[in-house]
Amino acid sequence: MRYEGIVYRPPSEANSLIIQATIGCAHNKCSFCSMYKDKIFRIRSLKEIFTDLEEARLYYNNITRVFLADGDALSMKTGDILSIINKINELFPECRRIGLYGAPKDILRKTTYELMQLHNAGLGIIYMGVESGNDDILTQINKGVNAAQVAEAGRKAKESGIKLSVTLISGLGGKKNWMNHVVDSAKIINDIDPDYLGLLTLMLEQGTELWKKVKSGEFQVLSPEEVTLETKVLLQNLQLSQCVFRSNHASNYLTLAGELPRDKETLLLEIDNALCGNDRYRAEGYRRL
Ligand code: SF4
Repeated sequence: MRYEGIVYRPPSEANSLIIQATIGCAHNKCSFCSMYKDKIFRIRSLKEIFTDLEEARLYYNNITRVFLADGDALSMKTGDILSIINKINELFPECRRIGLYGAPKDILRKTTYELMQLHNAGLGIIYMGVESGNDDILTQINKGVNAAQVAEAGRKAKESGIKLSVTLISGLGGKKNWMNHVVDSAKIINDIDPDYLGLLTLMLEQGTELWKKVKSGEFQVLSPEEVTLETKVLLQNLQLSQCVFRSNHASNYLTLAGELPRDKETLLLEIDNALCGNDRYRAEGYRRL
């Protein structure tokens, strides 16, 4: 298998076979993101992708999950994604889930019928970055879509039957806009009602546009206490039917995991304990607030 540059994947795809269907991110303009800045976006040929898959079959005898990288493999033509899925099914009959990143625009470009075709063929999960539900913040970070479009994309993915995993970024509104960020983010997540919600914390990457704004004083980063308080407000405002919630990325100050709405009160209690500096949390090794 040939890999180009650093390959990113969601935490839940840690044990998956990773195949680069695309190189880089077609958008590549978000002000906080440096993941694919060193790559010029391109879609790999089916021949190259099939060769990688065939080679993987020679090395591994049990592949239960496949993740199609890089940034937004869903930007490929539906027919080509179907060919890849069919090839995976042929080579790895034991495979139980195929996943990929899908930007909101990629989902919107596909018809519901196309998404259903992908689902029926074996596409099990789409990971979509929501980042924030606030229009001003989405504009400031150059997300390229507004909140209504992100919500529409999320609903559309869910309608197709494909599991949807979305991410929000704590602290993306900075000190000035944190309340707008969290309230509007809760609204958009409630609207989408995803199967999985991952909460990351803003990490400043040197050289990004956002990093420059922090340097100039235009953007003020939230303190760990403020990020934790923001998480509390988010959870208080979420009303979901059934969602696996995770805040266990390396960027997070406080590790949280549960199912919503079932574990909401427990999670809120954990946050309150952390905000109060409860010794048990320090003893368990979470970063002291
Ligand atoms: S769409 Fe995702 S990968 Fe692409 S620039 Fe934005 S955050 Fe980075």
